[in-house]
Amino acid sequence: MSDVRLTRRGLFFTAGAGVLGVAVVNTLAGCADDSPNSPSGSSSTPAPGPADIGGWKRVDMSYVSAYLLVRGKEVAVVDLGTPGSEASIEEGLKAAGQNWAAVKHVILTHQHDDHVGGLNEVSKVVTASFYAGVLDVASIITDARLKPVKQGDEVLGLQIIDTPGHTLGHISVFDPSNGVLVSGDALRTNSGSLTGSDPQYTTDEAKAATSVKKLATMDIKAILPGHGEPVLVNASAELQKLAATL
Ligand SMILES: [Zn+2]
Repeated sequence: MSDVRLTRRGLFFTAGAGVLGVAVVNTLAGCADDSPNSPSGSSSTPAPGPADIGGWKRVDMSYVSAYLLVRGKEVAVVDLGTPGSEASIEEGLKAAGQNWAAVKHVILTHQHDDHVGGLNEVSKVVTASFYAGVLDVASIITDARLKPVKQGDEVLGLQIIDTPGHTLGHISVFDPSNGVLVSGDALRTNSGSLTGSDPQYTTDEAKAATSVKKLATMDIKAILPGHGEPVLVNASAELQKLAATL
């Protein structure tokens, strides 16, 4: 059932991509699922990979994803997966025609190990600024220097959105130029449809629900979650539907 749905989403996107998506799709398409680390379990992904609305690439590392946001000659990486993720991220950079030298910004959505696991290794190979939410910074054990960020801050033209609940310092990253939201664990699709933070790993469920409602008021065109497939069609409507249940 979810396959049908995802396929329909994919077709929908292809038909509606128009001028906005074409140039980027040409440079980045087809690389969404070619990571050598992709398990066979990811084969449910539709073939015509609706990979891009404006310069982003998913690095699919089994159950968790990182995202590369390409802006001109610079790349912002959002989240760093589990320890050892640097090889997958490097593959992703290559597939996007980029390399570590282009990575000037690394944004961590929250403190959990499956999102910051590659931090120590990656901080050795890039000359970049590293960011995490104000209330999560102290919980991330690393030699890397982390800059605390919060609502209203901007990194490479990307807006930091406070989305507390999953952790108290959880942030999401929003690209106002194209409506792409990297949601970390504030939103996920690994249960088959769009849902909020997994209660099992949520610090404050009331705050998490409020964060979803806040996101539902934004003009979001695509949701790139930490866990599960991106939502590339009707993202705003799906988000509002979810918010109405909370
Ligand atoms: Zn998490």
